[in-house]
Amino acid sequence: MQAYRNRVCRDQNTMKNISIILIFLVAVPVVNSRTDPVNERIWKIVEEITAGHREIYIDLHQNPELSFMEFETAGKMAGNLESMGFEVTGSVGGNGVVGVFHNGPGKIIMLRTDTDALPVKETTGLPYASQVVSRDASGTEVPVMHACGHDMHMTMWLGTLKTLVAMKDQWQGTILAIAQPAEEVLAGARAMINDGLFKRFPVPDYALAYHVNSHVPAGTIVYSPGTSHAGTRAAEIKVFGSGGHGAMPHNTIDPVVLASRIILDLQTIVSRETDPVKPAVITVGSVKGGTKHNIIPDEVELLLTIRFFEDEIYEQIREAIIRISRGVALSAGLEEDRMPLITFTSQYTPPVDNDTDLVMKAVDSMGKILGQDKIIRRPPTTAAEDFGLFGRTGENIPLAFISIGSANHELYHDHVHHGAFLPPVHHSGYTPDFYPTFSNGVAAMSRAVLDLFGNR
Ligand SMILES: [Zn+2]
Ligand SMILES: [Zn+2]
Repeated sequence: MQAYRNRVCRDQNTMKNISIILIFLVAVPVVNSRTDPVNERIWKIVEEITAGHREIYIDLHQNPELSFMEFETAGKMAGNLESMGFEVTGSVGGNGVVGVFHNGPGKIIMLRTDTDALPVKETTGLPYASQVVSRDASGTEVPVMHACGHDMHMTMWLGTLKTLVAMKDQWQGTILAIAQPAEEVLAGARAMINDGLFKRFPVPDYALAYHVNSHVPAGTIVYSPGTSHAGTRAAEIKVFGSGGHGAMPHNTIDPVVLASRIILDLQTIVSRETDPVKPAVITVGSVKGGTKHNIIPDEVELLLTIRFFEDEIYEQIREAIIRISRGVALSAGLEEDRMPLITFTSQYTPPVDNDTDLVMKAVDSMGKILGQDKIIRRPPTTAAEDFGLFGRTGENIPLAFISIGSANHELYHDHVHHGAFLPPVHHSGYTPDFYPTFSNGVAAMSRAVLDLFGNR
């Protein structure tokens, strides 16, 4: 116990020395969080369960599964929930798992983890690095890695649930534990909702989720009240022309030139059409067309991602993309049946709109156990996350999405002071610093959920 605590304290001291943000921006005095009997108990349980959860983590890390293929992972989550006494239902929206733990009358609190991995070849050099190669949805063989840290999420989720079950004399209510598949393709939350998540299971009063944050040291909590993540929609534009010999362009309508004009004109949507204080992103990530240097093709395909923080801004962007694409085609003299074909795909998720009161309550509780100086507010990110969908159903469930620091302290120090590369999530070299990420993450989430039950 003492050695364990010393390690945590040393980490915290190191962090004070290295983090400019923590020193200068968050000047709240640290209370002695360990003299609080609830905190004492949480830390003791965390210490007892860490070794077992390290094994769970390594197993998950070595056996990553792609989106929609989380069969074994779902089985592992279900087995762990059952052993803790949850009522477990599998195959909710594909490989989704739902666990319900009734503990008397009280609030219903949902805690969500995601379970899928990415087609990335791991380069961490860790002894337990993933060697997995799998077939993706198109049948192509790809390496697979938990490069987004969902293995860490699952491990912290299980650890938090274990802690809450061990402390069930301290709260009353119901835990709704959700292991959501297919987050990376923004499909799992929708699939679980469409499969009756809030019809077949208790409707939560609050829904909480978290993501590892590769940019801040383990032991730090990062939050945004209000909207924390952008909404996103993928779009495809097929630009048609009239192909021919590259030496005789006057006999053609060149879709390469038209596509180029569309790409440039799209840049004026955010710079000249949408409100400058309402951020948005339009990125053309792929241009495909043609086969040879001297052939003008019949069509060119553009693939886009759109990011936005308000539904109205998305609608404005959507209208502008259609108008600009048509305008370019009309100016080239194309007929109505050769207008660009624009598809706004089903790869869509709305912004994550957090409930400000819920987020502030959760991070205040986290500060009580980690120290308020470990809690950092940050602006929203243009990254997307389908957790926001859980707050968009008719049930109007308040959401809180929290970031949990996962960077190794020494590496973070080298990054800040010497420019060392700190691999972000989705990078082949990303790895969370397991022990401080797990212990602080579980302690923070456990304390937040206990306080939200509010009936100790
Ligand atoms: Zn990801
Ligand atoms: Zn992720």
